[in-house]
Amino acid sequence: MKNLLIAVEQEGREKALSSFLARLLETGAVDAMVVLAEVAPGVTTHVLAKDPRFVERWARPLSPVMPSNASQVVSEVVRKRPSGRVGAVLRPCESRALVELIKVRQAAPENVVSICVDCTGTYDPVAYRDAHGSVEGLALREACRVCLNPTPLEDALPGIVLGFIGLDERDGVLVSVHDRLDPDVAAVVDELGLACGEDAGRKRSEAVRGLVQERQSAYDAFLAAREVSGIEAFARELGACTGCHNCRVACPVCYCRECIFDTDTFEGELGQFVRRAERKGALKVPSETILYHLTRMNHMSLSCVACGQCEQACPARLPLFHLFAMASRRTQALFGYVPGRSLEEELPFTTFREDELEPR
Ligand code: SF4
Ligand code: SF4
Ligand code: SF4
Repeated sequence: MKNLLIAVEQEGREKALSSFLARLLETGAVDAMVVLAEVAPGVTTHVLAKDPRFVERWARPLSPVMPSNASQVVSEVVRKRPSGRVGAVLRPCESRALVELIKVRQAAPENVVSICVDCTGTYDPVAYRDAHGSVEGLALREACRVCLNPTPLEDALPGIVLGFIGLDERDGVLVSVHDRLDPDVAAVVDELGLACGEDAGRKRSEAVRGLVQERQSAYDAFLAAREVSGIEAFARELGACTGCHNCRVACPVCYCRECIFDTDTFEGELGQFVRRAERKGALKVPSETILYHLTRMNHMSLSCVACGQCEQACPARLPLFHLFAMASRRTQALFGYVPGRSLEEELPFTTFREDELEPR
């Protein structure tokens, strides 16, 4: 890893970053770039930018909201193995989700230049929009308050990390260039003549250690505060689910092109519904909401990157992040699996070992 430094001028950190990103486009280091852009006060959305002037003016790489998990957007543009390189400006949870999507062939890594940005948390996009782009009085999303990965896992997608945790604006922004970054891109970064960032790198590492410790305590307290044990408690938590499937659409690692819950698999005749209602006295309709959540959890808990997008998308504001955090902590520990850690680490459900459920 080589640590360099972008100087931050009067216009601030975000402007310095936007200029750096614009230079990557201008020099041809990347052919296009997925980045957040401001389209109206308080409204940011992902765009595939081609014009460096657009990036310079409108890119918001530090936007305090995550309208969707960017890995889904990147997957959409590189799923079909195009030619060329797309720069992907990602938060840590987005980068980890992209690694999971690459493992299930939903993105081609050779077409992606990962540009990962430190993240100290995001706010609800609707509240942010209603406040016309101000965060005053807003609370960080729950997933962000307990996020254990505010910085990217650097080796999974060898790229560029833009770091600022623990750094003042006058310290600049750290640019960490991975040893295995595409040499053409690395050459462009070299030509920018950035200053050495080793001191800033050390300062940031120390601050990150402190932040993760704090977050770990918050995470443990968050899980301990609400015990959900057994199927009945699980069903109670999800009693208000309307079956809209927004949580599945928003989940970056829920990748099936056709979801079984969008097919006619669970459709029945009136008589069947009535018989089921008869057995229990009444049948919750839509009828398969609990099966839907159990299936999603079964499929996704190993790859869950704790981004909280499911809960953000839920119109009933159900505690989906909490439920997934509880389940994924156990399943990921059981298989010793860390989503997004490495492209070489096989997804446990694609492999079988006789001793895989033995206590570790
Ligand atoms: S979960 Fe929140 S704090 Fe963590 S990387 Fe994602 S947006 Fe940032
Ligand atoms: S289940 Fe929720 S928290 Fe986990 S990856 Fe999907 S959207 Fe993110
Ligand atoms: S988004 Fe909420 S209401 Fe819609 S299916 Fe998911 S949990 Fe149910």
